[in-house]
Amino acid sequence: MKINAGDSVMPGDVLGVSEQFLPDKWTYDDGNCIKAAVFGNVAIDDKSKMISIIPKSGSPALLKVGDSIYGQVTDVRGQRAVIDVQGMKNCDRQLALSYMGAIHISQVKNGYLEKLHDALRIGDIIEAKVTKIMGDNLDLNTIDKEGGIIKAMCTRCRAFMKITDKKDELYCEVCDRKERRKVSSNYNY
Ligand SMILES: [Zn+2]
Repeated sequence: MKINAGDSVMPGDVLGVSEQFLPDKWTYDDGNCIKAAVFGNVAIDDKSKMISIIPKSGSPALLKVGDSIYGQVTDVRGQRAVIDVQGMKNCDRQLALSYMGAIHISQVKNGYLEKLHDALRIGDIIEAKVTKIMGDNLDLNTIDKEGGIIKAMCTRCRAFMKITDKKDELYCEVCDRKERRKVSSNYNY
């Protein structure tokens, strides 16, 4: 994947190899690649080779019930996953609050889900719908086909995983491992 100035990126997106750019604001070097730390647009200084992310900006937006959000799974425990909400879908503005979302196991997909780990894992980037708002706390669901994981890293080697022919299954080419997720129709790798 070739990154150009202005491209829209998500946390964890690879911007280039370490030899290619110098990490600047909102980017980091994981020892191998330069990656984006936040949602935003890429800026590249051609002279200094500094690469940075301009976070989504503009007048801050408040979420309402029915909005779709992007976020990162920070905890999966028992019947509940915790989501660090990072942006609103189809909205270039930053969020007015640092929202925390929760997804109950019954709100992940249609049908029975025995273990939450078979649908969501820590570090995954998800798309989800807001169903309830209490201040900066949100209830979310991923039941729609767009809802679910849009980017996942292998739990063994941390490489990004690819979708397979099978529903809700991801594959790691690096270590030849299959994992289950609730995969969004917008999965982007
Ligand atoms: Zn792997």
